[in-house]
Amino acid sequence: MILPGLDLPLGTIWCVGRNYADHAAEMGAPAPETPVIFTKPASSVLTLGGALRLPPDSKRVDHEVELVAARARDGSLRMAVGVDFTARDIQDELKKKGLPWTAAKGRPGFAAIGPFVPAKLPAELTLSVNGTLRQRGSTADMLFSVPRLLEHLDAVYSLRPGDVVFTGTPRGVGPVAAGDRVDASLGGGVSRLTLTVAG
Ligand code: ZN
Repeated sequence: MILPGLDLPLGTIWCVGRNYADHAAEMGAPAPETPVIFTKPASSVLTLGGALRLPPDSKRVDHEVELVAARARDGSLRMAVGVDFTARDIQDELKKKGLPWTAAKGRPGFAAIGPFVPAKLPAELTLSVNGTLRQRGSTADMLFSVPRLLEHLDAVYSLRPGDVVFTGTPRGVGPVAAGDRVDASLGGGVSRLTLTVAG
């Protein structure tokens, strides 16, 4: 799969948890001292105009609007708006048991990614559901900046061409329901994503 605006085959989907203090606080979790990293499978990617299918075994799927970072073929930084969908009820159970988050984070459609554009930071993130604003934040409020996250991922895991990084969500996460329209935007609309939620 080639993502729009990133002229490379998709590599690993890296994700960063709790990278905004206000979101860590709304989850009742402390701000981390080093980046919290997890991954999603390639089958979870949803691109422009797609529909998210809610998994039957979850009663609560939350939206998390995020800046998705990647390096272009020439090494320059690209950014896209993304939505890290999360089956919160399943994640809560996994957290209690100390188990990995894949079942809560890796379902088909749970990694929605808009078109990549040249990065210009800091950038504003917004997400609306059925026209009502749910999340608004700035990447200026990240605990670990985009360059720092890339440096960390490169040092610990060795980033490869085509890898993309969901860099965490600001406060305001909340559930989506069948029939909802989700609009996410980055940098005042330079990267936008609209998707619908199927049953
Ligand atoms: Zn997230």
